[in-house]
Amino acid sequence: MFLTGKRALITGSTSGIGLAIARALHAEGTAVVLNGFGDADAIASLCAEMDASHVGADLTTTQGAEQLMADAGPVDILVNNAGMQHVAPVDEFPPEKWEMIIALNLSAAFHTARLAVPHMKSAGWGRIINTASAHSLVASPFKAAYVAAKHGIAGLTKVLALELAEHNITANCVSPGYVWTPLVENQIPDTMAARGLTREQVMRDVLLAKQPTKKFVTVEEVAAMVLFLCGDAAQNINGANMSIDGGWTAE
Ligand code: NAD
Repeated sequence: MFLTGKRALITGSTSGIGLAIARALHAEGTAVVLNGFGDADAIASLCAEMDASHVGADLTTTQGAEQLMADAGPVDILVNNAGMQHVAPVDEFPPEKWEMIIALNLSAAFHTARLAVPHMKSAGWGRIINTASAHSLVASPFKAAYVAAKHGIAGLTKVLALELAEHNITANCVSPGYVWTPLVENQIPDTMAARGLTREQVMRDVLLAKQPTKKFVTVEEVAAMVLFLCGDAAQNINGANMSIDGGWTAE
């Protein structure tokens, strides 16, 4: 239990990748604060499972991010993971979806980081890990807001890394390819519409077409990378963008 005594906040941890990260951190002794939406009973049972607290703040607003940080209290490990997707051609992309995705997938990480850093500096230790994406390195059509936000969070991560290095605080991205979670499942209907494809064609020709392994990444694989980045062996990994994409971005 190499993280005993540490406190972690994982945004968007009621589902998918964030939930796996929370479970992995909890298993290593971290006190965990969960965030995200979902059924109240299901969230209560996650809190009981991990002896965790939950703050249901909406991170699409500055006020929501500030509320989250106030309610969460000081944290040693900050995982900015909450994210959403919208798939549409750029000339049909709803401006309100653009605003929401930039707010949640990018601006929220700025707000949580700026509010988490003072405690990390005074503690002389910290880890900031941002769930970016293969889309922080390469683009796909019909994902204007998501790709812009993910490239942005990769840049923000580098700035944090440079600013905080002397305080024993590292900042890194983990960048999965396609992971089978509700976020991916939910974009299949819009991708079918945008590209005029069947569900099977979207799975084979759009999603797994990108991944040389032809397999989805698992949430546990992403969580394992986050754990590694929290450990002493990773103290000189700073400002990095760790691809977990089966080779997609090697092309
Ligand atoms: P998911 O839909 O399973 O989980 C998203 C989480 O964010 C949930 O807990 C949800 O409640 C929370 N959330 C949504 N809107 C929110 C809001 N306004 N405020 C606070 N929380 C909110 O998705 P996932 O696939 O686990 O995605 C997690 C992260 O991983 C995202 O940043 C996503 O972009 C990234 N990612 C996912 C994949 C993939 O293939 N699934 C690939 C690369 C990167």
